[in-house]
Amino acid sequence: MIYLDNNATTRPFAEVIEAMSNCMASHYWNASSAYGQMDGLEEVIESAKTAIIRLIGGEPEDNVVFTSGATESNVWAVTEGFRRSTNRGWLLSSQIEHPSIRIPLEHLQAQGIKVCWTPVTRDGVIDLGKIAEIIDSQLGFVSLMLAHNETGVIQPIKEATTLIRAHAPECLIHTDATQAIGKIPISLSDELSEVDLISFSGHKFHGPKGIGGLIIRNGTSLQPLIRGGGQQQNMRSGTMNIPAIAGISVAASKCRELLQKNQHISVQLIRDEFEELMRSRFPNIFILGKQAPRLPNTSFWGMSGIDADDFVYTMAANGIVIGKGSACSAQSIKPSHMATLMGYSHEDASSLIRISSSFNTNLNELVKIADKIIL
Ligand code: PMP
Repeated sequence: MIYLDNNATTRPFAEVIEAMSNCMASHYWNASSAYGQMDGLEEVIESAKTAIIRLIGGEPEDNVVFTSGATESNVWAVTEGFRRSTNRGWLLSSQIEHPSIRIPLEHLQAQGIKVCWTPVTRDGVIDLGKIAEIIDSQLGFVSLMLAHNETGVIQPIKEATTLIRAHAPECLIHTDATQAIGKIPISLSDELSEVDLISFSGHKFHGPKGIGGLIIRNGTSLQPLIRGGGQQQNMRSGTMNIPAIAGISVAASKCRELLQKNQHISVQLIRDEFEELMRSRFPNIFILGKQAPRLPNTSFWGMSGIDADDFVYTMAANGIVIGKGSACSAQSIKPSHMATLMGYSHEDASSLIRISSSFNTNLNELVKIADKIIL
């Protein structure tokens, strides 16, 4: 099988599976118990936090709270943002956020809370001019994603958050970095220095599913997500998922090594070569976000004559797994919401294919896709 749907989920590294099964077989104690502590399970948790902070260029003061994944982290951030904005202020996000940001915010909006949605340009970049137009000191919460799951477009978070901070110094700033972490080098201390909360998810960077977290920065104090037994300094109660934490720790360390060896550049070169080949064979191809900074592994394109549904099934029958639009909306027959926002017609949007490779993808695998297109 050729697996090219890594923005939906990734294959766990072999070392991740090994670390997890070792933990499940031999260290199944409750981490909060006395013998769990004796067995060094606290250490497993602490080193996982360190591995994640290192992967994203954070600082030792940055706190990590483990959750079941980015959906949970995003909902927590929105809940906290809402709590802080109830008496005064409004909330800001963008039209392209993942449903785990968009739907909770729409729910608040339906109850009368003021939420503004930043549009995107034709390249899928959030419109900074629009933010500059509407920003004021009453802004209480903002959530803007770092990289988009379909287009891979990397958003100008540094510029947006610097602008926001200047006008609304007290604003709680969240970024959903789920798609960017593990794929590109990130520096929390630099480009994300104004961001208070960051969501991540293990299964997007070769770790296990069902584990992710929220990084809490800049001394931000939050209300707990789940009250109960008091785990994770009372922030999210519940017996800790040690095997998954051991797994995400290994995944974070391995991704950091790969990024330090500039493996993401090789991923990008292969993607770019593939796009060149596609352009030469199919001159009517359009590649979304091509002019913007993009994740190195993502290519989101369409052309007339392709029906994305049929194409994805045909490819799967040939052992090639690719995506169309976002996996989270794959059940719906609506064409990509993102493409529509970027101004593409319904017909164009219905032909969109997303190829998202990994550190292991080679050019031959991508060429096989080009070879299978018969218009
Ligand atoms: N945010 C983004 C940008 C995503 O792509 C996803 C996964 N599709 C999520 C959040 C949700 O992540 P999880 O599967 O960990 O809940």
